Amino acid sequence: MKSYHADKRGYYGDFGGAFIPEMLYPNCEDLRQNYLNIMEEPSFKEEFHQLLRDYVGRPTPLYFAKRLSEKYNTKIYLKREDLCHTGAHKVNNTIGQILMAKKLGKNRIIAETGAGQHGVATATVCALMGIECIVYMGEIDIARQAPNVARMKMLGAEVRPATSGSKTLKDATNEAIRDWINNPVDTHYIIGSVVGPHPYPDMVARFQSVISEEIKTQLQEKEGRENPDYVVACVGGGSNAAGAYYHYLDNPEVGIIAVEAAGKGIHSGESAATSALGKVGIIHGSKTLLMQTQDGQITEPYSISAGLDYPGVGPMHAHLYASGRGEFISITDDDAMKAGLELCKLEGIIPAIETSHALAIFEDRKFNPDDVVVVNLSGRGDKDLQNYIDYFKL
Ligand SMILES: *Cc1c(COP(=O)(O)O)cnc(C)c1O
Repeated sequence: MKSYHADKRGYYGDFGGAFIPEMLYPNCEDLRQNYLNIMEEPSFKEEFHQLLRDYVGRPTPLYFAKRLSEKYNTKIYLKREDLCHTGAHKVNNTIGQILMAKKLGKNRIIAETGAGQHGVATATVCALMGIECIVYMGEIDIARQAPNVARMKMLGAEVRPATSGSKTLKDATNEAIRDWINNPVDTHYIIGSVVGPHPYPDMVARFQSVISEEIKTQLQEKEGRENPDYVVACVGGGSNAAGAYYHYLDNPEVGIIAVEAAGKGIHSGESAATSALGKVGIIHGSKTLLMQTQDGQITEPYSISAGLDYPGVGPMHAHLYASGRGEFISITDDDAMKAGLELCKLEGIIPAIETSHALAIFEDRKFNPDDVVVVNLSGRGDKDLQNYIDYFKL
């Protein structure tokens, strides 16, 4: 049977793999050879699930959104990742990777962050385990994201500015890779989404797959069946989406809907709609779709939501797009903001602006009245309050 999961070499169809400098090979190879065995160890599983339960607060509820469903005349369930400790799904992955690092005998963690959300999730688990944490962040992002920089510092992490190039995420990534090359023995690099060289996309997808594992059980209780008709998630790099789709990927009865950020419009020159605009290329060691110029330089992406402001997508999503297994929709800043405010008014939930993109599809994409549609509510909107205030002049 055709599978939409990674093969042994980390390929999803034509996408994925490990396109890395030779100097990085030993680090990735160590991880690649060990990650599946470690994840299978009973002691690993036990600690992972105990922390997900007692520290993260899992299982997160699957909530039937009654008023939202009435408005759009279909059955909408929200998977409440916004209720995870730290306010989003990212911590599922950082918990998994910190335990992985410990099993691999590493005692120093590095990460890179753009908006700071992954930096905070990484600093959190490093504090939890008492492990040294260095987060690379572009100088410009440090200035733009002061509250998250403060959070990381409070959690005991060192935030190192990347001062080269555009002084944003890709420059921070370069610094983190350089660090890893120089410290191959004691350091683990925690990547924050289903991106990067094999085995990262597959490993991160497996850590996040707890989301769809729980949806299956919860939907069975509520609807008498494990499978929704559709699973919807926003896609930056693609980790919350990968987790929400994971156990449904190879089940063609479940529709997969991926929502990207169209920014000020797909063809405005200010967007992050990778599937619509991307071409095949290599970013962060992975062959995937990315936004690039004619001569292959990465285009600076734009979205009102910091978490979707990424010029590529993970290889799983590139394959879901290219194969037609996934339906890809892009949503503008304006439509996302409107949908975010609507969820506040209809359900009393303030969503992250990333998530608001996923919620915005109901305006144009119609479903049948008896369709069961699960939307992954990837995060809460507290971090975006200033954006909401400025946009709506609150
Ligand atoms: C980081 C983030 C995203 C985007 O990242 P993915 O890897 O695509 O999930 C989406 N929603 C929230 C709340 C985030 O913090």
